[in-house]
Amino acid sequence: MTAVSSAERTQHNLFATASVDRCGEHRADPAWLAAQRAKAGARWLQFSADGRACVRAGHLAWLDAAAVATDAPANFLGLRAGVPLFALRAAAPPVAAPGVRWLGLREAAMVLDGVDAGLFAYARSLANWQDATRYCAYCGAPLRLVDGGHRALCDACGRMQFPRTDAAIIVIVEHGDACLMGRQASWQAGHYSTLAGFVEPGESLADAVRREVHEETGVDVLDCDYHSSQPWPFPASLMLGFTATAAGRAITLMDGELEAARWFTPDDIARGLVDGSLRLSSPMSISYRLLQHWLRTRAGVDLDALPRGS
Ligand SMILES: [Zn+2]
Repeated sequence: MTAVSSAERTQHNLFATASVDRCGEHRADPAWLAAQRAKAGARWLQFSADGRACVRAGHLAWLDAAAVATDAPANFLGLRAGVPLFALRAAAPPVAAPGVRWLGLREAAMVLDGVDAGLFAYARSLANWQDATRYCAYCGAPLRLVDGGHRALCDACGRMQFPRTDAAIIVIVEHGDACLMGRQASWQAGHYSTLAGFVEPGESLADAVRREVHEETGVDVLDCDYHSSQPWPFPASLMLGFTATAAGRAITLMDGELEAARWFTPDDIARGLVDGSLRLSSPMSISYRLLQHWLRTRAGVDLDALPRGS
């Protein structure tokens, strides 16, 4: 069997297939950026103030340059097959053209292909950061967006702000023939998911995996391996997926974040899905992908093909 790389696994994660050349080496050059804007083929993705974008027939509905004011502030996303792509914040409440729907990222992800979902997530991530970063963290003066929206400059103190990404680990822990999942009290009945948490300052990813699993379940992790990653712009996370092995199965809910945690064998999962006692995270999520990977590699089971009850 050919080994699958983490890069290849990541490509299958939703929002991880933006497939544009971000042109980071050019976008700080205002003349280069202006030339991209002026190209007849440039395309614009319009966002409503609340972060929805236009979708038509299962694709992002891009505007051409004629529909966009020449001085409209825009985020440069990159080049796709030589076509400059921009994201534009719409000032007025959106009016949907025939056949066009304004959808939020979660809704849109259900109907878009991987490339368009990735572009939407990318544009949304940038907009989320801009919305949350209006003033200088050092001196409090208003910030000015530069570099096609990828940096924010403080003219008062000269410091540059960079887009923020919050690293979070998510892990499928195994012991023998079972994997560990937990649930929060606020979740729908029967919903279990792989364990996850934010990486803390000064912490390695492996230490974050060990700490989170221990804090949430009292289970000690012996070892872990990187699986794949997924941008998760709700509002600024990057999910870093791991597989891990545990030293034992005793569970103690240490920090109270989880209402319950359990070990599931492949049979437990199959049975729970049929009788409706187990609900999983959306197939959009890396949690689902990690479970899918575990079931396939450990038990030869295809999670997508398991029958679901009501
Ligand atoms: Zn400042």
